[in-house]
Amino acid sequence: MSSEPRRSRRNGQRGLHVSFEFFPPKNEDMEKALWEAVERLAPLAPQFVSVTYGAGGSTRERTHATVERLVKETRLKPAAHLTCVGASKIEVDEVIRSYKDAGVNHIVALRGDPAGGIGTPYEAHPDGYRTTADLVAGIRAIGDFEVSVSAYPEKHPESASLDADIDVLKAKVDAGATRAITQFFFDNDVYLRYLDKVRARGINIPIVPGIVPVQNFKQTAGFAARCGASIPFWLAERFDGLENDASTRRLIAAAVAAEQVIDLLDAGVRDFHFYTMNKADLVYAICHLIGLRPVAEAHADAAAA
Ligand code: FAD
Repeated sequence: MSSEPRRSRRNGQRGLHVSFEFFPPKNEDMEKALWEAVERLAPLAPQFVSVTYGAGGSTRERTHATVERLVKETRLKPAAHLTCVGASKIEVDEVIRSYKDAGVNHIVALRGDPAGGIGTPYEAHPDGYRTTADLVAGIRAIGDFEVSVSAYPEKHPESASLDADIDVLKAKVDAGATRAITQFFFDNDVYLRYLDKVRARGINIPIVPGIVPVQNFKQTAGFAARCGASIPFWLAERFDGLENDASTRRLIAAAVAAEQVIDLLDAGVRDFHFYTMNKADLVYAICHLIGLRPVAEAHADAAAA
């Protein structure tokens, strides 16, 4: 066993890739917050930044506008999320072509949640893509896109079992997916066990952990309950009693996320996808902690945006 202190290995990490997820803003204030976050995080030279697609395609125009602005005003590589919900193949293909024309070459392909909301039965549009694997194949048929898809270390809530869920992932990979990004999780062993299962199933694309800094514990817990992610007892305990103490909550959130990411680094993970909630500070701090530093060129581009 090395006598070197554990923490010294974590400085100046090489071969790290991070990506940042944003959601399209609804109004001017949110727009301002988004671009401030983009400007702050851009100098860290992420591998890509992704922009979500509202439930049922409700943000189609706003997602497109945000992605287009990223293309035009920054050197960041945007990835546009796209779902199958509530749209015909013709309509979805139109969106895919418009991204191709705008110079976007990365799509995060998703089935999407049922039109009636999480927990109601999912019904494919009669003329639409029936599964995410079909959508992935459709995207690949239209252009030479990089296609990321979702993965669920604790299984998707609609899934009968983790094995059935991994079968769905395998179908997406066979259809041409090049990367999977996981639903957020807090117990790293769950992710590492999942990774073993996925590899044993012959899936070899990167399975990038989705990291959610807990900006608001109550909100995160509510979201976790809906999407089948578990909240460990120790996590709830760490935020216990801090309902009216925002500044301590932020410190705890930073410590929790840093601990999670450092532990994954120690397990050999080098790619991380951060759910930013359009807020930069916590994510920036965690990236700094794991050794990422601003890249001058990326900084100049973001400042010019
Ligand atoms: P899939 O991975 O295709 O399927 C998930 C589960 O559905 C399967 O495991 C299975 O249980 C069932 N299923 C699907 N197809 C079949 C089949 N053929 N046979 C049997 N069972 C099947 N939602 C949005 O609306 N907009 C977004 O921008 C967005 N971004 C996301 C990003 C990430 C990284 C993640 C993890 C999720 C995101 N979601 C988004 C949420 C996602 O749309 C929901 O979780 C949705 O319910 C499932 O979509 P999926 O592509 O993950 O489904």
